Amino acid sequence: MKHPINPPIYWSVIFAFDTSDELIEAARNARRRFREGRPADDLYTRWDNPTVRHVEHQLAHWEQTEESLAFASGMAAIATSLLAYLRRGDRLLAMSSLYGGTVEFMNRVLPGFGVEVEWFDPDLDDLTRKLRSGKPKIVYFESPTNPTLAVIPLREAAARVHEAGALAFIDNTFATPVLQNPAAFGFDLILHSATKALCGHHDVMGGFAAGTRERLEPVWEMRKLLGGVMDPLSAYMMHRGMETLELRVRRQSATAQAVAAFLHRHSRVRRVHYPGLESDPGYSIAREQMRAPGCMVSFEFDGDDRATAGMIDRLKVFRRAGSLGGVTSLVTQPATTSHLHVPEATRRRLGVTPNLVRLSVGLEPPEALTADLQQAMEA
Ligand code: PLP
Repeated sequence: MKHPINPPIYWSVIFAFDTSDELIEAARNARRRFREGRPADDLYTRWDNPTVRHVEHQLAHWEQTEESLAFASGMAAIATSLLAYLRRGDRLLAMSSLYGGTVEFMNRVLPGFGVEVEWFDPDLDDLTRKLRSGKPKIVYFESPTNPTLAVIPLREAAARVHEAGALAFIDNTFATPVLQNPAAFGFDLILHSATKALCGHHDVMGGFAAGTRERLEPVWEMRKLLGGVMDPLSAYMMHRGMETLELRVRRQSATAQAVAAFLHRHSRVRRVHYPGLESDPGYSIAREQMRAPGCMVSFEFDGDDRATAGMIDRLKVFRRAGSLGGVTSLVTQPATTSHLHVPEATRRRLGVTPNLVRLSVGLEPPEALTADLQQAMEA
């Protein structure tokens, strides 16, 4: 027997059955079959597809969850999962420093469906206060946070959410499943923008939701209805990206550590946010729950917003683009990009100052990145 070492791309929307009875039985029992472990009786690619299922198993393996579902983008994964669980009159409690698109979906779409959205600051005290003031159905987290890389103690956070009778959802895009597995700390549903490190090359969009089959069953049903499923070719590209995921993430994290140490010593840097630095408030928590601190580094430049923008414009190796986690190093100024629409008072509370710079560290040599920052800051 011979087998291909890569999954075939099942570039087909439909799968033909030998008899009508088999087709009818597959359609009738699709949801039950998902719950029971997904045999390969695909019917229609919006429901399930073998290439897509291959990467779903790959991601579930990385996240150490029973199952996962693949989506056309991170936003499709997030929106579909929330819509699968939330109903009119439910309360959603969300961390105030989430990815901007998630915040916009929660603020602009969910209230229209009668969902009440409330926010908590990224610390356990505020979470506990808000949990006391009313019972949420879901509490939604990111850790490390964007862009100031605050680290939430995940085991404690999930325990408090469960004590309050709610479900704990987390976006694990920043850490990646190589560095952190929230399911091991009790999280119920783990979301990803696979467009970032999972794909890794800034060329494919995708998303995942991971958890138990029981937890994912309503999400599978909602994905089938909303249609935001990953297509088979993107799934193949995602498979290829995930084959090198650990190597890339480990190397990017080691380079980010070197970049953070360089910034920490630099006279034109006021503050570095990186949970791999001993001076960072998240250092000890990160050591407990993450295998390495990750590829994201933020710092406050010694200058106002214009001087900071000028410094960013002088960078030659770091590219000015609004994504993260891939092989190419990127830079943004969160106050004027991802957090432009966040009210100024909230921005200030979250530490998103006008001189804050966010770096996503890629696979370039560490010396090339520190030399680039050096020339840009000293010009
Ligand atoms: N979650 C995080 C943390 C993100 O940074 C992003 C995108 O930047 C998303 C979700 C949304 O993912 P996508 O752009 O794949 O829809």
